[in-house]
Amino acid sequence: MTGQWAAARDGSWFNHPNTSTPKVIHVATSDGFALCDPRVPLSEHSAWLRPQEVPVEVRCRRRACAAAFDGAH
Ligand SMILES: [Zn+2]
Repeated sequence: MTGQWAAARDGSWFNHPNTSTPKVIHVATSDGFALCDPRVPLSEHSAWLRPQEVPVEVRCRRRACAAAFDGAH
């Protein structure tokens, strides 16, 4: 797999999923974790998108992800 991919974090990671919160899409590390927090696995069940395909309003705004999104286009 070449290039960067982005996906939602795995909802099962939460003890109390809050389904009213809009999904946030993170940029993935090469082994499938969130770039902004390598302890957070991204969901295998999420759609995997190219970072430039992710709508701005659902992009993760933490530094590492934001920088990757900014560099994606
Ligand atoms: Zn993130």
